[in-house]
Amino acid sequence: MNRRDFIKSTGLITLGVGLYSFAEAGLHRLFAEGKTHILTLSFDDGFKKSFYRTAEIHEEYGLKACLNVVAMGNTPGYISEKWIKEGLIGNFDDWNKLKDRGHELMPHSWDHKNLTEIPINEAKENIDKCLDYFEKNLDSFKASEAVYNFAYNASNQELEDYALKRVRAVRTGGWLVLQNTKYNKLPDISKQSRLGCWSYGPDMCDNNIESEVNEFLSENGGWLILNLHGLDDEGWGPVSSKYLDILLKRLVDIKNLALLPTGEVFRML
Ligand SMILES: [Zn+2]
Repeated sequence: MNRRDFIKSTGLITLGVGLYSFAEAGLHRLFAEGKTHILTLSFDDGFKKSFYRTAEIHEEYGLKACLNVVAMGNTPGYISEKWIKEGLIGNFDDWNKLKDRGHELMPHSWDHKNLTEIPINEAKENIDKCLDYFEKNLDSFKASEAVYNFAYNASNQELEDYALKRVRAVRTGGWLVLQNTKYNKLPDISKQSRLGCWSYGPDMCDNNIESEVNEFLSENGGWLILNLHGLDDEGWGPVSSKYLDILLKRLVDIKNLALLPTGEVFRML
């Protein structure tokens, strides 16, 4: 048994029941069982230390983490940004290990450019480069089942349409695609492909998450996607690992709420 198969089999043994129960149930069954709210904590950028820890905290509660990574973030040529410093980003060995453990790894651009600020043809090539790299380097990645997460949640209709020729859905700024609401619509998501999300920064965002989640739970239902980044001292608008643990511990006991990665929601259709 090679290392990857070993990780895969031990991952399935220790985590299988919790991580796969939602997928087996299917989305309709979930609603029939009384789930009215879906919450996705969608982590961006690919900080190695933070993403392993985020995965561990999710595993404590039988949950899959929603992890979105910059395709070339760990390769020579990556241009360090203020909030995503070179050397902190994991590589596809890390992402394959986390995927083997049952977590969701999705594209968050080729090189973290704001695609609305570069020529449109260059932006389209950037999307293709990202998806091609994922197909080559991430085990069993299928673009047709993927959610493409725009860097800076910056997009326009032409870029979204272009990405949607290859992926199942795009995630972008809630202010761009959601009309007068913070929430994506439920239960009918079969025709939805543009997901809106919200993020808070650059300081620690624990308090924002707490109030957004509480407000969401007081509504009748819907799908809230909160865009997070690193833990503790990493990234723009980090969440503290201590608070994330406390939050997930509380949320898994809420009967009408499901905590799911974005791609998983579509796979359950
Ligand atoms: Zn980002």
